[in-house]
Amino acid sequence: MTKYADIIIVGGGVMGSSLAYHLLNEGYTGKVVVCEKDKLYEFASTPRSAGGIRQLFTCDINIQISKFSLSKYQTFPKDMAINGEPAEIDFKQRGYLFLAKQTSLPHLKEQMTLQHKYDVPSRLLNKNELLEIIPELKTDDLAGGLYCEEDGYLDPYSVMQGYARKARHLGATYVYRGVETILTDRNGIYGIRLENGELLYTKKVINCAGPWAAALSEKINLPLPVVPLKRQVIKFDIAEPLLNKLPLTIDPTGVYFRHEGDALISGFSEKVKPGYDFSWKRSFFEEQLWPVLAQRIPNFERAKVQGGWAGLYSFNTIDQNAIIGKHPELSGYYLACGFSGHGMQQAPAVGKCLAELLMTGNYQTLDLSPLRMERFKENDLIIEKAIV
Ligand SMILES: Cc1cc2nc3c(=O)[nH]c(=O)nc-3n(C[C@H](O)[C@H](O)[C@H](O)COP(=O)(O)OP(=O)(O)OC[C@H]3O[C@@H](n4cnc5c(N)ncnc54)[C@H](O)[C@@H]3O)c2cc1C
Repeated sequence: MTKYADIIIVGGGVMGSSLAYHLLNEGYTGKVVVCEKDKLYEFASTPRSAGGIRQLFTCDINIQISKFSLSKYQTFPKDMAINGEPAEIDFKQRGYLFLAKQTSLPHLKEQMTLQHKYDVPSRLLNKNELLEIIPELKTDDLAGGLYCEEDGYLDPYSVMQGYARKARHLGATYVYRGVETILTDRNGIYGIRLENGELLYTKKVINCAGPWAAALSEKINLPLPVVPLKRQVIKFDIAEPLLNKLPLTIDPTGVYFRHEGDALISGFSEKVKPGYDFSWKRSFFEEQLWPVLAQRIPNFERAKVQGGWAGLYSFNTIDQNAIIGKHPELSGYYLACGFSGHGMQQAPAVGKCLAELLMTGNYQTLDLSPLRMERFKENDLIIEKAIV
């Protein structure tokens, strides 16, 4: 086992693996170690994600991050290929669609204006245009929707494995052990202790521990405003197939749905208490999803649940956005956590920009400093209105 690393990344999910890949791909020559406690990624958020990739955000930094990331997902299979073998991620650019009632149309218009500033091709659709995309849609209570046809959905597990494989190929070491704590002295970080008691020495630790990020940080008395929140996803079949494959569609109630192969998946951000709860229930479908789905698309009335799962958002309790960059109070400690349900669409940009920060001391591709930890103390919050 390597006893010294120049950089230790805690967490080998999509964020940690994207960072490891980008460091080495950008020419970093130091030793990069990724510590991952869950070799099969049974509980990580990434494989449990809905895989939605959208540029339909409402604040500058999230739009910029998503735009950059989407362009990277378009070339991902080729970029992450090893020995000519592409890393397929099943990216379906079928669009993203926020359905809207009359009262929210002015807000969507405002959001579209900001998105256009960054050349995101979002469009406001009227009822007839909605029906061109989803002919079966019930539009009586709708006034239109905000749509971006470049957006879509992909297979999160394949993205994570694509980054991890390529990072290993370029020289990263994956250690499949939990990090018990980060070791510090008055000069800053000097290492980590693994759960089996072994020590690894380093001066730089990046906390990419997803829903466990705050638990790790607590160990060194640096609390983070991040909690694990359960989110259920249900997969179902319908007897009468839809005419078109769906964009990732969000009902005004917040219930979202999309195709998953020939079946469909749906979810909703229900009110739950923070905690590490991975149970899912059919009653969630019957009571919270189905009444909305059946009313929105008649074909969903005869839905048959195939299965489901629950995963955890690493939910930023202050402004529901990522926390990225140097920790202001501990030299050598960096954060990439708190993604609050939109980490898949941020992983390529965050990995690349954080790698730049670590290698040069500055962001280059995109300035991610609006997402710094200090924003909470400075009350310079990032208010994102389109949290799903
Ligand atoms: C149901 C659901 C739907 C979602 N839908 C979307 C979506 O449509 N679009 C989107 O962009 N995002 C979505 N997300 C969010 C997205 O999945 C996450 O933001 C993203 O996967 C976070 O990646 P991560 O690498 O930070 O965390 P994770 O994938 O959780 O990885 C963190 C890793 O750290 C490891 N770890 C933790 N503590 C330690 C430790 N002490 N030592 C060693 N290893 C440790 C864990 O085992 C884990 O593998 C969704 C999430 C859920 C749960």
